[in-house]
Amino acid sequence: MSSFKVTIAGSGLTGLTLALLLAKRGVEVLLLDEKSEIGKGSKAICFSRRTLEIFDKLGVVKPVFGQGVQWNKGRIFFRNQEIHSFDLLPDKYAKYPAFVNISQYEVEKILVAAVQQEKLIDMRWQHRIKSLETSIEGNTIQIITPEGEQALTSDFLIACDGSKSTIRRLMNLEMTGSRSEEKFLIIDFRMEADFPSERWFWFAPPHNEQETILLHKQPNNIWRLDVKLGKEVPETIVNDHDFVIKKIKQVVRDKPVSIDWVSLYRFSNKMLENFVHGSVVFAGDAAHVFSPFGARGANSGMHDADNLAWKLAEIVNNKATAKLLQTYNHERLGACKQNITCTINSTQFISPPTVKAISVRDSILLQAVGDVVAKKQINCGRLSVPNAYSSYSHSEEGEWNSIETSPGRCIKDCLMYDGYLIEKLNSEFTLLINSDNHSANIDTDFAANNIHILAITNDGSPALIDLYELTPDAAYLITPDQYILGRWKNFTPDLAISLKEIYLSGSLTDMISHTPSEQDLIDNEVAILLAEE
Ligand SMILES: Cc1cc2nc3c(=O)[nH]c(=O)nc-3n(C[C@H](O)[C@H](O)[C@H](O)COP(=O)(O)OP(=O)(O)OC[C@H]3O[C@@H](n4cnc5c(N)ncnc54)[C@H](O)[C@@H]3O)c2cc1C
Repeated sequence: MSSFKVTIAGSGLTGLTLALLLAKRGVEVLLLDEKSEIGKGSKAICFSRRTLEIFDKLGVVKPVFGQGVQWNKGRIFFRNQEIHSFDLLPDKYAKYPAFVNISQYEVEKILVAAVQQEKLIDMRWQHRIKSLETSIEGNTIQIITPEGEQALTSDFLIACDGSKSTIRRLMNLEMTGSRSEEKFLIIDFRMEADFPSERWFWFAPPHNEQETILLHKQPNNIWRLDVKLGKEVPETIVNDHDFVIKKIKQVVRDKPVSIDWVSLYRFSNKMLENFVHGSVVFAGDAAHVFSPFGARGANSGMHDADNLAWKLAEIVNNKATAKLLQTYNHERLGACKQNITCTINSTQFISPPTVKAISVRDSILLQAVGDVVAKKQINCGRLSVPNAYSSYSHSEEGEWNSIETSPGRCIKDCLMYDGYLIEKLNSEFTLLINSDNHSANIDTDFAANNIHILAITNDGSPALIDLYELTPDAAYLITPDQYILGRWKNFTPDLAISLKEIYLSGSLTDMISHTPSEQDLIDNEVAILLAEE
């Protein structure tokens, strides 16, 4: 029987990203998928800055970025009036924009091409996992292939096998959460139009006040229309060409169009209670599913992969014990709960559950035209941003102004004198310090502890010194997946070295919980308002 250290089930975006990240760290991977080729269909189109930053690490960002449509602006309409617009502020110091739109199929194609170049990844199509015996020591996996059944063993099995995960079923694990009653028609259509590449969202459009509509541009003159049709529509509606064309025309009027792909969805917001089960780890849709209004599904799956890959590599290379996986479990469960809360709140605002809730929602929308508070309450999807994790209670010292660079946050990219911060962070732990605090002793101490040093000069990278409040004695410890683990105003080397050790040991006892943002609190308040009978 063949033996592997890491087997990934599923070559969707999560599995492909994880395989590439592991291979970059020198880990051999077996990547299995039951399909015979990349799946077509209308799925993800919005890819976030953080995802582009991960693609940058993998060397695949150019084709994604090159083909994708960049956008920052969103406009929101209620009945026949524009009530709000927002700008996901192009961050002048970041290398990548807030989002690019490109079809999931195209991104998977780019990732598969990269996987095929990687000697450490053994990718096998038409390999369906059929059964599994698992224990803390490892897994015996039975696979159906065109040549017949095969068995193999693997120290770790990473379940990236999607929302209907076979591995979840084989392990008798169930996701909990809710599924919307409402059905949404997703239409990808071709149209040559000079509409701007903005996200347009209509609540109660004049032709049918029960609907909501989302229109968004993709590359090559393809547009995505997402229409809430209600609970009663039959599944066969997708084959009703005239109906689909009518839906498109209600939005784009007399422009010539042709249909590329149509599907009907009911969206779920569900998650597993734990992502780590002995030597089996769940990631992406196999671990959680979200309604797509915040573009959090695929993006968060790839963020799971980024969190998991370096930890798995440390374990496989005997530099950490499997307990380190508990940090993955803790952090990505926390991220998932934030995503679920966000998407449930969005779903509730888009599809209020009762007549009374509809009238509460509509009064917020009516008020929003001239009212800043009401504008903040509009929720047609809070778009994916890197989730904030809880931090160690002793991982911050001193007075800081910005919460954006506090422990538990993903680093904020910043232009430096010779490139961007995301390019300078090593694939290991990094100590970010002011060059005034840099000495030969620090170099020696940190080299011995495998911590890379990034020393910043005041005059060379003033924007970064400013953003990170990097005063002469200050320092940050950054994880290999580019999250801030600690920051100190009066830094001494032992602080960073011991924090790294605690983190690698997987001891989570002194974690503190995530503080909700101001927007989270507003959304939760509105959700309660909508749910009140
Ligand atoms: C209409 C729509 C719009 C969306 N828009 C967005 C968006 O804009 N942004 C965003 O971030 N997300 C979006 N999503 C969500 C996104 O599509 C999913 O979150 C994403 O596909 C999850 O990727 P994954 O790799 O985890 O799972 P999947 O893509 O489902 O991949 C799972 C893989 O596992 C394989 N597999 C399954 N069972 C087995 C088995 N037994 N053995 C071997 N292989 C197996 C499957 O063949 C498949 O290739 C959208 C979803 C929908 C439906």
